[in-house]
Amino acid sequence: MYSKKVMEHFRNPRNMGGMKNPDAIGEIGNPVCGDVMKVYLKIGKRNGKEFIEDIKFQTFGCAAAIASSSMISELVKGKTLKEAMKITRDDVADALGGLPPLKLHCSNLAADAFHEAIKNYKGKK
Ligand SMILES: [Zn+2]
Repeated sequence: MYSKKVMEHFRNPRNMGGMKNPDAIGEIGNPVCGDVMKVYLKIGKRNGKEFIEDIKFQTFGCAAAIASSSMISELVKGKTLKEAMKITRDDVADALGGLPPLKLHCSNLAADAFHEAIKNYKGKK
């Protein structure tokens, strides 16, 4: 049912855990499978551009939700905010080698939680 990539990220999630003094937090819940995702961002500056210096997530949910969180954390880490904002829900699912249609909302959740964190960061400034 799940791709190899999904299973691999589910078993060894990257960047999982909390963060002390994050620059931004994004939290989103999903009533369909009860997934809850919290994303923490550390924003750095490089050549005058803000970038994702570090990202951590805490996800309580199904395998697809955990794999999606792990995948988006790898996709956006080190990217400038502008580049990272362009990462879509589809990019996350594609990078995972696709998700079963019933589980697409889980990869949507990861992208949404990330975008929420960026929005909160921008609102704070
Ligand atoms: Zn789910």
